[in-house]
Amino acid sequence: MSEFEKILKEFLPEEVVKVIKLTASHNRWRKRECLNMIPSENQMSPLAEMVYLTDMGHRYAEGLPYKRYYQGLIYVDEMEVYAQELMSKLFHVKYVDLRPISGTIANLTAYYAMARYGDKAVVVPVQAGAHVSHTKYGGLGALGIQQIEMPFSLEDMNIDVDKAAKVIREVKPKFVTFGGSVWLFPHPVKELSEVAHEVGAKVMYDAAHVLGLIAGGQFQDPIKEGADIITSSTHKTFPGPQGGVILTNDEELYKKVRKIVFPIFVSNHHLHRLPATAIVALELLYFGKEYAAQIIKNAKALAEALAAEGFNVLGEKHGYTKSHQVLLDVRALGGGAKCAKMLEDANIIVNKNLLPYDKPEMIKDPSGLRLGAQELTRWGMKEDDMKEIARFFRRVLIDKEDPAKVRKDVIEFRKNFQKIHYTFDVPLEEVRKLLKLEALPLLE
Ligand SMILES: *Cc1c(COP(=O)(O)O)cnc(C)c1O
Repeated sequence: MSEFEKILKEFLPEEVVKVIKLTASHNRWRKRECLNMIPSENQMSPLAEMVYLTDMGHRYAEGLPYKRYYQGLIYVDEMEVYAQELMSKLFHVKYVDLRPISGTIANLTAYYAMARYGDKAVVVPVQAGAHVSHTKYGGLGALGIQQIEMPFSLEDMNIDVDKAAKVIREVKPKFVTFGGSVWLFPHPVKELSEVAHEVGAKVMYDAAHVLGLIAGGQFQDPIKEGADIITSSTHKTFPGPQGGVILTNDEELYKKVRKIVFPIFVSNHHLHRLPATAIVALELLYFGKEYAAQIIKNAKALAEALAAEGFNVLGEKHGYTKSHQVLLDVRALGGGAKCAKMLEDANIIVNKNLLPYDKPEMIKDPSGLRLGAQELTRWGMKEDDMKEIARFFRRVLIDKEDPAKVRKDVIEFRKNFQKIHYTFDVPLEEVRKLLKLEALPLLE
């Protein structure tokens, strides 16, 4: 029993100690001892965490700022308007809605603004990384919108532009989607937006994974390339609280979105997200270019180092990656499920993932691993550190060294990276007092 547990046990019932211990163990493990490499996750800065833990999270605010169905929102109204202004500045768009409480809810809202039951949508194929909400199994299907996939080029690891143009012209859908959950290279938004607009279709870009890269100007600029509406999560490469957002310059679409979010898909929009998202928008306005550029450099360095260690890394033809992601084919090493588990035993947290040539029924044991460099970057790692990480991968998956032994070295390595970068230097204890925070985050 540690000193900490002894003290807790002296003062608290055992059941309470259990809850505290589980939370603290998780925090210590994932925040201090792991290499977190799941591409859909990130870390908020301590400052964003502090403003996230405030009283706004206890309150209700249905409707729009200054036109609410609840009292007590004087500061929340101003906060919501300001957070949306900051997002508007960051993404160079006129209209922002921060009320969708997740990326999936943002997608449902956009679909419902553009199409109804029985209408058709041409969407990114599952091979190009479509999210479940883009499919008949998810939100698209639940709204009764038909899912028609664009063809994919395995060689380029991207949508096949010529074949996709043909499909869009034939189908004449209500809308076309781009963006995905497993992707290495920007989608051909410019080429295919023109075709979509020719047949009267709107273009939606799901930026959930790459919003932080777009903010830093280091990925494609979907609106400039012709997208009418961006939907996104706010917690992947955009290192904010779990949530969603819709961005657009299309006034008519925006008006529809405003009327759909509430009352259809959201009642209260989890108000503590607002100040936290605003802090992250500011972090990206100040440090976003440097942050996003380093993520992409790190992802590329990681891919090259893994290839040099003998791994089968996808996307070689186009330099492995232009996003935060790296894809490995690990069939020869025991398959995705087994490899992800072995890495977890060494404190390296990754996703097993279907690769573009896998059959959907392989979902429980797919061929691939999906890695992301965004959180490693947030903790201050650079290209040379990616080489070290590639060596850990080799020791576990190729040399079949005991993962427990590698874990010791991973924990030692992580000790060099205990501080979040690309944020403001603030006297946290002073901020805590100012915010009247009752709590301190649990770590030890
Ligand atoms: C993660 C993801 C979503 C869903 O986001 P949630 O916030 O988890 O609901 C939507 N689209 C894509 C492409 C994603 O990767």
